[in-house]
Amino acid sequence: MKKHNFSAGPCILPQEVFEKAAQAVLNFNDMGLSLLEISHRDKAFVAVMEEARALALDLLGLTGKGYQALFLQGGASMEFLRIPYNLMRVDGKAAYLDTGTWASGAIKEAKAFGETVVVASSKPENYNHIPTGYAIPEDADYFHCTSNNTIFGTQMKSFPETNVPVVCDMSSDIFSRTLDFSKFDLIYAGAQKNMGPAGVTLIVVKEEILGKTGRAIPNIMNYQQHIDKESMYNTPPVFAVYTSLLTMQWLKNLGGIAAIEKLNEAKAQLIYNEIDRNPLFKGTTVKEDRSNMNATFLLVDESHKEKFDSMWKAAGISGINGHRSVGGYRASMYNALPIESVQVLVDIMKELEKSI
Ligand SMILES: *Cc1c(COP(=O)(O)O)cnc(C)c1O
Repeated sequence: MKKHNFSAGPCILPQEVFEKAAQAVLNFNDMGLSLLEISHRDKAFVAVMEEARALALDLLGLTGKGYQALFLQGGASMEFLRIPYNLMRVDGKAAYLDTGTWASGAIKEAKAFGETVVVASSKPENYNHIPTGYAIPEDADYFHCTSNNTIFGTQMKSFPETNVPVVCDMSSDIFSRTLDFSKFDLIYAGAQKNMGPAGVTLIVVKEEILGKTGRAIPNIMNYQQHIDKESMYNTPPVFAVYTSLLTMQWLKNLGGIAAIEKLNEAKAQLIYNEIDRNPLFKGTTVKEDRSNMNATFLLVDESHKEKFDSMWKAAGISGINGHRSVGGYRASMYNALPIESVQVLVDIMKELEKSI
């Protein structure tokens, strides 16, 4: 039986995507060949890459607006490094907002390059909120933020107005909600949270912000190289790109980001209503910054843990243990998670309350 999969990542993908991806491994496009054994230069795969790049821009509403989409390897963590390499001028500086483990990982890499200003941090409160009221230095080469903090369960509901280029790690909420994506100059997302299997990262970059650092950039690190080579500078991760394309096609057929956003809001409301109503549970973050993707919560009385754990396991729920830095539980409700799975979890929370 298929589990109710709340894993934070790699995570659930649509069932039809799993089936089509499995089929392509056996016989891709009726070619009599597996997707895994053809050249990435074969026109069948070149078409996959072209469509994936175009569809990513289309879903974000960025077609024809000076942006390029790339599918590169190294995970979101590699972009922590590529971003300062490509955007921080020699003797320049960058501004970062510290809202969690991933944001602080990005800061560490930037510090190796040059002056890195942390404009605000919620670390002293174990990242339970998104800081506000900070100032971004006018002379920063870019401002970096993390739209959704996967581990702590917070999400930026608004973004600062600034003349500085805005760079955003959207790994765990890409394609989950409508935003004016043209306000961002560079968006990146490791695929394995909301888009596809691990092994590929989507980078969407406004081309005009590149080429300004005065720094020699090795080809493999250089966004412009990857743009010029149409995301085929070296062998791309063909399976991860193809499966990401299938997920984007699924989303497009569903009605795009606006359609999935409604479902995501309904799922989030369902779980948060129960966390707030049920006296056995409490949330870990301030309410206004709660993530629609990762809901983090604790048992008020830890002595119920054994019982609760055996109840949700028996209900076919998987992947809701919280990250070790927060403890408790984390229900990750990415695009492909059906609302029925959230209802099963909520029913178990109600059952626990009745049983005590
Ligand atoms: C998971 C995650 C990362 C790290 O992604 P990798 O692909 O493992 O490098 C970075 N940022 C956010 C917000 C994440 O959720």
